[in-house]
Amino acid sequence: MAISVFDLFSIGIGPSSSHTVGPMRAARLFVEALGDDLPRVRRVKAELFGSLGATGFGHGSDRAVLLGLSGETPEDVDTDAVPALVEAIRSSGRLCLGGRQEIRFGEDRDLVMHRRRSLPEHPNGMVFRAYGEDLLLERTYYSVGGGFVRGEQGVVEDSTPLPHPFTTGGELLALCREEGVPVSEIMLRNELAWRSREEIEAGLLRIWDVMRECVRNGLEHDGVLPGGLKVRRRAKSLHAKLLSEPEDSLSAMDWVGLYALAVNEENASGGRVVTAPTNGAAGIIPAVLHYYRRFVQGASDAGVVRFLLTAGAIGVILKTTGSISGAEVGCQGEVGSACAMAAAGLAEVLGGSPEQVENAAEIGVEHHLGLTCDPVGGLVQIPCIERNAIGASKAVQAARMALHGDGSHVVTLDKAIKTMRETGADMKVKYKETARGGLAVNVIEC
Ligand code: SF4
Repeated sequence: MAISVFDLFSIGIGPSSSHTVGPMRAARLFVEALGDDLPRVRRVKAELFGSLGATGFGHGSDRAVLLGLSGETPEDVDTDAVPALVEAIRSSGRLCLGGRQEIRFGEDRDLVMHRRRSLPEHPNGMVFRAYGEDLLLERTYYSVGGGFVRGEQGVVEDSTPLPHPFTTGGELLALCREEGVPVSEIMLRNELAWRSREEIEAGLLRIWDVMRECVRNGLEHDGVLPGGLKVRRRAKSLHAKLLSEPEDSLSAMDWVGLYALAVNEENASGGRVVTAPTNGAAGIIPAVLHYYRRFVQGASDAGVVRFLLTAGAIGVILKTTGSISGAEVGCQGEVGSACAMAAAGLAEVLGGSPEQVENAAEIGVEHHLGLTCDPVGGLVQIPCIERNAIGASKAVQAARMALHGDGSHVVTLDKAIKTMRETGADMKVKYKETARGGLAVNVIEC
């Protein structure tokens, strides 16, 4: 399966790639699959299973399904208009399928969240049915992390032939050595199989623009995040504090944390974010990129492109041989993966060799091994927001530590990812995005 950097960095909405972006895409795919039968539809029923059913309300999966059935996409939906769109469906009891076929839709009857039932194939399963006089169409989808959606027949896998295919860190390093080029160049050559160099650079700079806009929005908004936990947004006041105080030797890390808080507070409020590679961990890569632009001399747009290509290469390996899904392997797959990608990107733009880049990514994975997913109230707020700030700091440290070495190290990236995968398989379900263990049960919701 060929994975592009634009699969790993996509523009979406908060708060969750697997629980918001994925269900929205699945619901829209279902409506598209109806094809010529759309005008015959009188009723649609959606059922969400496993982690989606358990934490879907906190993650906005219910709203996402309504929006996807209405034909909205995570990329283009007007995030400011979402509350009104959803409220209109709820108050009228009517939904316009694909924006074309109006049907009655009662959430208590037509959208079922199974809190304790799972589909056997994957923790994030969804079944959609459309009825006319009889059943017209039934489809099962799985939200497999990072906003990726798989149907019961599997994803229609992208089989674009790439000049330098790789799925492991070992293969990537071998390619870099053979070709005598950095990680970003291998990734760029592969990306050219889909689009021109100009399109790639413009697309990645557009991703960077959305990341910056997200940080700006996060620094402007204050108040309490939605969902009932009464979590106060901190980024705006911290920003004012940092601006008013003289910088000291650790100020850079304060700024890294600030940028991550800003993104994840936007994500938690359902704002526009870049899935990087998930929404829960969406703050880490933008925070480290902001660090690069603000604190690294000579930083440039070309460096941003190289950073994202390098991070994307590590994302390809993580997605192919590990996991980027909290429901599959816990938070090690989300924050751990984002940290590894950011560390690798930073290491490369700071002049690291491919070996040092691989080392930085490995440090990022290794020191998140075993990290569980236990969001309080099923909301992507505690521990997620602060965890991104800490993960971003770790990424900077991982890159610097790798650059202080010569690239040789005992634990390879591939071994760290294999350990992540196996640890995730051993992890109890209550620690995998079900909000039934860890902080989720020890912190009293009020
Ligand atoms: S704890 Fe980690 S994996 Fe779970 S929702 Fe939060 S960021 Fe995502």
